[in-house]
Amino acid sequence: MKVNTLACDWCPNVVAAVASPTLVVGPSRNETDKTLDLCQGHLGALLRAFVPGSRNLDGQGRKNGRPSLAHAATQYNTKKRRDRERHARQAAGRPARRTVMAQIGQARADAYWADLEPKVLQVMPNGGTKLSRPDVEKLCGLTSSTTKRVLARLAHQGLVKLHGGQGRFRRYERVGG
Ligand SMILES: [Zn+2]
Repeated sequence: MKVNTLACDWCPNVVAAVASPTLVVGPSRNETDKTLDLCQGHLGALLRAFVPGSRNLDGQGRKNGRPSLAHAATQYNTKKRRDRERHARQAAGRPARRTVMAQIGQARADAYWADLEPKVLQVMPNGGTKLSRPDVEKLCGLTSSTTKRVLARLAHQGLVKLHGGQGRFRRYERVGG
């Protein structure tokens, strides 16, 4: 059995068309009127272009905060492509792209802070001597916020002990070493 299906003219791949709107200019239809075969999504994009305020005479950019017809069609294609990619990832049991990017970002941040830890440990004398945060800042040439974070990481790992006070009154002591 041979079945002919109309494909959407605006979809980059073969998608079944649900309607074939015809452009009629003037009072009557004629043979040369242009026709498009469109899928459900692209039919919606075309119909939205007929809503006053959605039209854009030069067909470019945005007017009244509404996308142009070409823009709406492109957006719809982009959305479809992203949906396909996301579904393929899910089907393959791979994590979402956003999750992967977040993991890469976290790994980079961890590497960055881990690089600074030996630098701070190096300027701290062995157990018995206590340094203030400004001392560590000066000795390491780091900003106060960076110093604060590195010291917090070291304390969390049990490599540095905290003594008394808050802020500038607090003292830090290297454990062991
Ligand atoms: Zn389409």
